[in-house]
Amino acid sequence: MAGVLVLNATFEPLAVVPTRRAICLILAEKVEMLEHSGRLVRSERLSVDEPSVVRLSRYVHVPYPTHRSPNRRGVLARDAHQCQYCGGLAETIDHVVPRSRGGGHTWDNVVAACRRCNGGKRDRLVGETTMRLARPPGPPPPSTWIEVAAGSVPHTWTPYLTADRRSA
Ligand SMILES: [Zn+2]
Repeated sequence: MAGVLVLNATFEPLAVVPTRRAICLILAEKVEMLEHSGRLVRSERLSVDEPSVVRLSRYVHVPYPTHRSPNRRGVLARDAHQCQYCGGLAETIDHVVPRSRGGGHTWDNVVAACRRCNGGKRDRLVGETTMRLARPPGPPPPSTWIEVAAGSVPHTWTPYLTADRRSA
């Protein structure tokens, strides 16, 4: 159960809210439904399409949490669970410049890595190995936090999250 994706009036992904909350917002005409799940939500008084993506009718200014420091789930979501060295399934995060060599715990120094690459690299710099980074790491787009909050991303959300990813 992923909940409902809330977009700003400008279509930027903002948050994930529980289905009941989204239905209240729709009934109060604070949001419009863009996508529904295909299921119905029934209560005593009404039966409505279960929302999947809604959009605020009025723009709200939300400062994005770009200052959030990297954590494992955030880094794995940003890198789509792909090892940035070999392209395999990543379960760990690696400091590109190892912490023992002065590397920081910052978005531009952490990447998703599989156990094999992470273990193989040890406390060396990339240039001291035969490994190559797929791309230089950087701060995640806001949609990363949506993915982390939801746990999984329903297919109805994908176009809205990828649009955000392109502009970030
Ligand atoms: Zn790997």
